[in-house]
Amino acid sequence: MTPPAAPNSAAARDIAYALHPYTDQKAHAENGPLIMTRGKGVRVFDDSGREYIETVAGLWCAALGFDNERLVAAATEQMRKLPFYHGFTSRSHEPLIELSEMLVQRAPVPMSKAFFANSGSEANDSAIKMIWYYNNAIGRPQKKKIISRMKAYHGVTLASASLTGLPANHKLFDLPIAGILHTACPHHYRFAHEGESEEDFATRLATELETLILAEGPDTVAAMFAEPIMGAGGVLLPPRGYFPKIQAVLKKYDVLLVADEVICGFGRTGNYWGSQTLDVQPDILTCAKALSASFLPISGVLVNEKVFQGISEGSATVGTWGHGFTYSGHPVPAAVAIETLKIYDEIDILGHVRRVGPHMQKALRDAFADHPLVGEVRGTGMIAAIELSADKAKKTPFDPAKKAAARLVKLGEENGLILRMLPGDAIAFSPPLIMEEGEVDDMVARFGKALDALSVQLR
Ligand code: PLP
Repeated sequence: MTPPAAPNSAAARDIAYALHPYTDQKAHAENGPLIMTRGKGVRVFDDSGREYIETVAGLWCAALGFDNERLVAAATEQMRKLPFYHGFTSRSHEPLIELSEMLVQRAPVPMSKAFFANSGSEANDSAIKMIWYYNNAIGRPQKKKIISRMKAYHGVTLASASLTGLPANHKLFDLPIAGILHTACPHHYRFAHEGESEEDFATRLATELETLILAEGPDTVAAMFAEPIMGAGGVLLPPRGYFPKIQAVLKKYDVLLVADEVICGFGRTGNYWGSQTLDVQPDILTCAKALSASFLPISGVLVNEKVFQGISEGSATVGTWGHGFTYSGHPVPAAVAIETLKIYDEIDILGHVRRVGPHMQKALRDAFADHPLVGEVRGTGMIAAIELSADKAKKTPFDPAKKAAARLVKLGEENGLILRMLPGDAIAFSPPLIMEEGEVDDMVARFGKALDALSVQLR
């Protein structure tokens, strides 16, 4: 057990005053926090000066690592020039205009307008409200249900947490709200039938989706949300042919598709958007995280012309489109996001991910695919996961009481790695996109030591 925090130490004050997100509060009161004080490149340093490689870029988000003077300069310059303005009632400002233009120009499919919020959750809630508003405006008030998927992660606000398909986001919260449906998770390793090919699995999932829409009544189903690669649910890549088959069903019943690009956007999968890697043609796209390299909070919602026209018509009848946050398109995060997108272009982030990503995927597979504790190594570009398994051949998960992944996270810390555990005893790899091959090798070597130490503990 961790020794008790010294009185008045930062750890003791943390325990006394901070309510931590995504934390077992009782365990935290016993064990205390891991306090970070600074960052450099792909590394962070704690308050005792210990160095760690950040294998998941904080929360899948610090795409340019943990220091960048250009982003600091972009923020300070904008703070000096115009520290706040908003976009309500036709007011505007340069960063709002330029970032909207940049995002619409970079969209994976023709998009019409960009809207801003502060987090991925708010972006997804905003998208739901846009869809409801749109359907009301065009005279389809019944068409409101939203389909998501088991193991999806779309955020924690009331509607986005309802879209999320993970038990911890619903239990004790009285969620999901009404009108949110969850269809099957497209993870072949876990959910395909014995001997079922990826194509057959994809066909079955599309059939299940169609059955769900028909059972609910197509005139009541408005949209489906999907991450191109499911992130927090386990880094789950869909089977080959999945999105084209799913989209054929959605088109047939006039159901909109929202691509949640909060993790996949801005190069993570080797293309600018995960939608390009996975063949997704969304009507609405949400993004956040790497949009500003997470130096400041900002998220975006892109809508196509069809959806925009509905919102436009509706707002004319009401007299306003009654949605928007005080900080929608805040000039300082918007200026940082503009600079971030310029940096991605200048350093050719896609070229970098296309070079380092395959190296990372190969290094993880070479080192761990045959490891007795590893069931599956999966991923593409610079996103991956290693799923632990008690019996490799039978794909048996570990007894949850063994806390295999939680132990591995702790052993990672002892070996200079910040690791992130995902449901199903998986460990995510989603490092800063700027990570170089040598740093990948260092990360993989440290992970190997942690995994070997876990083998000893579980023996
Ligand atoms: N969507 C996806 C795919 C995410 O991974 C996340 C967060 O991890 C969110 C939405 C929610 O974003 P936020 O935590 O900024 O609200």
